Amino acid sequence: MKALAKFGKASDFGTYRLIDIPEPVCGPRDVVIEVKAAAICGADMKHYKVDNGSDEFGSVRGHEFSGDIVEVGAEVTDWKVGQRVVSDNTGHVCGKCPACERGDYLLCSEKVNLGLGYGYSGGFTKYCLVPGEILAIHKRALWEIPEGIDYEEAAVMDPICNAYRAIAQRSSLLPGENVVIFGTGPLGLFSVQVAKLMGAVNIVMVGLAEDVAVRFPVARQLGASATVDASAENVVERCRSLCGGDDSIGLVVDCAGANISLRQAIEMVRNNGEIVRVGMGFAPFGFPINDISMKAVSIIGHMAYDATSWRNALALLQHGRIQVKPMITHRLGLSQWEDGFEAMANKEAIKVILTYDYPE
Ligand SMILES: [Zn+2]
Ligand SMILES: [Zn+2]
Repeated sequence: MKALAKFGKASDFGTYRLIDIPEPVCGPRDVVIEVKAAAICGADMKHYKVDNGSDEFGSVRGHEFSGDIVEVGAEVTDWKVGQRVVSDNTGHVCGKCPACERGDYLLCSEKVNLGLGYGYSGGFTKYCLVPGEILAIHKRALWEIPEGIDYEEAAVMDPICNAYRAIAQRSSLLPGENVVIFGTGPLGLFSVQVAKLMGAVNIVMVGLAEDVAVRFPVARQLGASATVDASAENVVERCRSLCGGDDSIGLVVDCAGANISLRQAIEMVRNNGEIVRVGMGFAPFGFPINDISMKAVSIIGHMAYDATSWRNALALLQHGRIQVKPMITHRLGLSQWEDGFEAMANKEAIKVILTYDYPE
């Protein structure tokens, strides 16, 4: 079968190659899924068009995927062939560290994700194996897709659950407060929806000039009360005036991860306010952070989700309280993966769904 794989060491950016690999062999405790939909994530984008010159096989990529169970090992009792499922993309955890003890498996320091870490294949292919070792430790590594949710919606659960956990589980947002969200990708757009569900009054989305055409209108459709183009406007002043003054912003969710967004977040948030940092940036900081102390601001690091995020986000999705469809801008065959990555890179796309389109 064909598979889109990343080559090079785990620490390297790049390189993608479409390769032929054998179908997975199902062990006694494993589950094999036929992938029906796989989404391109921002985490996949950082390797796109980066050639690290390495021929060392890393893993088949694609950590956001859903499909049908087509094979279960002889010792598997929790799952059966024919179930529609979505993986939370854990592939390996230790089961005994402080994070694992509290069910926070994606924060296990030994964690390897399917389709993200090395040695554990993901969904940019036809069949994906969920290892029995993870299902033995973490029973919620796999979820049955509730009725009414289709494969492409289920494939996007990863950013939904991230946004859910960032705001509903990590912040202390109260109904009636205002939220500013940096970053117009899926994490930002799902954050808009979760902030709305949590009762935020003003939800201001901050993006760039390149977001004005496609992403800003979707953000407003999904619940943003205003959008701010950081390339053209004074972000801090504009966000404060949109929310009602200097002390009006209690929570900033930074899904952009750029240094400038954190700096502006610290500046705009009210005393005792919170900043949840969801996005990633790789450049060192070059500005003073005394205001974090002066204003008693809490900066909360965010990573991943837990089973509570999954259970509740699936319920919200099933009951139409979270919308995915307006964000799925491209549906392509795996053979067109480069078109999908290109559309993500030039911001024409919000979410791209890939389906396996090679003959048997
Ligand atoms: Zn992802
Ligand atoms: Zn652990």
